[in-house]
Amino acid sequence: MKCVICKTGQTHPGTTTVTLQRANTVVVIRDVPAEICENCGEHYLSEPTAKRVYADADETARRHVEVEIQRYAA
Ligand SMILES: [Zn+2]
Repeated sequence: MKCVICKTGQTHPGTTTVTLQRANTVVVIRDVPAEICENCGEHYLSEPTAKRVYADADETARRHVEVEIQRYAA
């Protein structure tokens, strides 16, 4: 698909690192499957992937961890 950020690049399947902040918690999730823009590097998560990543961040925040680095497990 065409990138909506730079409006010139095309996206290709790949993996990215997603960083999410919840209150006092920062969650970094590596190896998340996404469409990546070849031009600006913007990433686009599919809806199920985004839901999963957000749920992980919420769960981590409930444990009151300050920083956690996770690996996305399919
Ligand atoms: Zn782009």
